[in-house]
Amino acid sequence: MELKDKINKQRIQRLALLRHAQKCRHAQGEECSVTRHCGMMKDLWQHMIECHRYYDCEEPFCVTSRYILIHYRDCMNAECETCVPVRAAIARDNAISRLSQEEKELIDGLMCLSQHQETKINV
Ligand SMILES: [Zn+2]
Ligand SMILES: [Zn+2]
Ligand SMILES: [Zn+2]
Repeated sequence: MELKDKINKQRIQRLALLRHAQKCRHAQGEECSVTRHCGMMKDLWQHMIECHRYYDCEEPFCVTSRYILIHYRDCMNAECETCVPVRAAIARDNAISRLSQEEKELIDGLMCLSQHQETKINV
């Protein structure tokens, strides 16, 4: 597998896991049947909500995840190698393939650089 494909696969996985962490009904520390990364992702998600260092943050997953989420929110590319598979997966388990208002607010809450941009959700 090419490096580019490998990185892309990791991005897709990270997006999927972050989305899971937002929705998972298991309490932190409880065994999650969906993914063994669940606890770690919940910690990361919680950190990202509270983190105000944005791109200076030393937590490596914080910065990269923020990039991925912002890209995902703003991506308009109908052939994007990262977003298309994620959106397809969401469409499969969601009758409505749009971001819910709650998700939109969560992602918007993670923004700093995009704060002044017009909000555009294009899912
Ligand atoms: Zn879970
Ligand atoms: Zn951080
Ligand atoms: Zn994209």
